[in-house]
Amino acid sequence: MPVSWPVVIRSRRVVLPEGERPADVLVRDGRIARIAGHGTLPVDRPEQLADLGATALLPGLVDTHVHVNEPGRTEWEGFATATRAAAAGGVTTIVDMPLNSIPPTVTVEALQLKRKAAEGRSWVDLGFWGGAIPGNAADLEPLHREGVFGFKSFLAPSGVDEFPHVEAADLRAALAEQARIGALAIIHAEDPAVLAAAPQQPGARYRDFLASRPDGAETAAVSRLLEAARRTGARVHVLHVSSAAVLPLLRRAREEGVRVSAETCPHYLTLAAEQVPDGDTAFKCCPPIRDEANRDALWQALADGEFAAVVSDHSPSTPDLKLLPEYGGSGDFAAAWGGIASLQLGLPAVWTEARRRGHALADVVRWMSAGPAELAGLSASKGAIAVGRDADLVAFDPEAEFAVQAHALHHRNPVTPYAGRQLSGAVRATWLRGRAVDTGAEPFGRLIVRPANPRDRQDF
Ligand SMILES: [Zn+2]
Repeated sequence: MPVSWPVVIRSRRVVLPEGERPADVLVRDGRIARIAGHGTLPVDRPEQLADLGATALLPGLVDTHVHVNEPGRTEWEGFATATRAAAAGGVTTIVDMPLNSIPPTVTVEALQLKRKAAEGRSWVDLGFWGGAIPGNAADLEPLHREGVFGFKSFLAPSGVDEFPHVEAADLRAALAEQARIGALAIIHAEDPAVLAAAPQQPGARYRDFLASRPDGAETAAVSRLLEAARRTGARVHVLHVSSAAVLPLLRRAREEGVRVSAETCPHYLTLAAEQVPDGDTAFKCCPPIRDEANRDALWQALADGEFAAVVSDHSPSTPDLKLLPEYGGSGDFAAAWGGIASLQLGLPAVWTEARRRGHALADVVRWMSAGPAELAGLSASKGAIAVGRDADLVAFDPEAEFAVQAHALHHRNPVTPYAGRQLSGAVRATWLRGRAVDTGAEPFGRLIVRPANPRDRQDF
């Protein structure tokens, strides 16, 4: 087969684990074979060189929190649309969440159905989380053996009936089993009792929605989770931290030896309650986007290394379920689907705000590529421009500016809270295992499994 893609990628801004520098990156058999001085690696034919000039070269992002929703709710998203959006947004690996698809990924049979639906239809590498729900403790070990990356549980209702949340006894059982088999437990931490006691005022006012999901729902749930982790010895990861009030709890638990990490998401870092227009349910997610002071505290924690990852929690639905007024909906925050679509926009959204706050591209890469790769146990192959890793690479122009047009995105539905926003940074090209991704051609993403070698999984 003739080589139809470059074997040397050259940039004045190659973002390496140790920082940014001009370099040539040699790709061979889908892996990074060598990193050399800028302009020093020869090529036989000019088409084997991609000279990016001042456009930066980043390792592909790893997004461990994506709801693809296929099979079963493919009208919400789907493998083809989600992974095209991922590639266009500089994300070369995604790990799909176990719920919103039907069936949810809570048995080996359901996992096989998902794999079948995804096979040959993914533009990026794709793995799967399993789900731990009441009554499926016996399914966890077989799923773990099949290569899921860990197990998600909800401490409060998930929003879909087929994925029930765990009560205290179920949580203990699930964590005990995961400690035994060495799996990573990933947790949606909001407390149903705190949510039930909060003021419920349906309608289009964002302020009312925010009051219905207070910080206390997150802190109460995280406290319960930490206690269960302490008792069972399970390795736990708190998904989508929205409230900065949970950070001291995590810090203290870590100091006491609890194996816990946490992530946050682009929307909590770049949007704020003060700017959410009433009735604009594109902004609805759970836990909710909180105020500016909270957002500043999340940035401080990110700068201090308290978050293992920044991942999208891409969770789209159809415009009618979002109840958007522009589609004839009521704009009622209480009744609208809770989930934000941002898979294609996470990198520019975070970069825009990170740069404003004095962070470098290398920081963004640590949060959105190296961190999630490590969380998923993929550090041997993903998450860095380093010799031996997969040549999953992104040409990213950090100086480009663009206004987000929801209809121009590859997401299945043109609904995103970033619509109309001015963002910095544009993805110019994406390579997956050395080969340029062309979203108009045949996909060649692979279905990946959790690496068997436990050395690949680092503890926090
Ligand atoms: Zn989610």
